[in-house]
Amino acid sequence: MAVAQARAYLRARYTNADGQMVCQACQNEMPFKLRSGDYYFEAVQCVKGLQQHFYENRLALCPTCAAMYQHARANSDDDLRRSIVTCEVGQGDAAIKLEIELAGETRTLRFVGTHFFDLKTVLQGFE
Ligand SMILES: [Zn+2]
Repeated sequence: MAVAQARAYLRARYTNADGQMVCQACQNEMPFKLRSGDYYFEAVQCVKGLQQHFYENRLALCPTCAAMYQHARANSDDDLRRSIVTCEVGQGDAAIKLEIELAGETRTLRFVGTHFFDLKTVLQGFE
């Protein structure tokens, strides 16, 4: 249930004005659509190890970036949580960029402002 809610939440935030859903890590259009006509994407947990599940704590990633995020990320969950919580962000910011290292390369995770703000609020409860 939490995942279905996360998917709807992410789909709404990462579909651009041209109707394309884009990956938060590579910023490319998701590679294919399902029979339903919706883009396929992976709703990966952003910071693992919280005692509760939050739909805000998910990323919209293409299959390749999802695999790298889960299996080839240099940043620990603690590091990620800390950089999100300490990031100065206003509720009106359009987009926030966070640098992470995936598979030995620096990549930029792009968040729409409302998602980042919601995520930061959730993570602040786990200081
Ligand atoms: Zn990607």
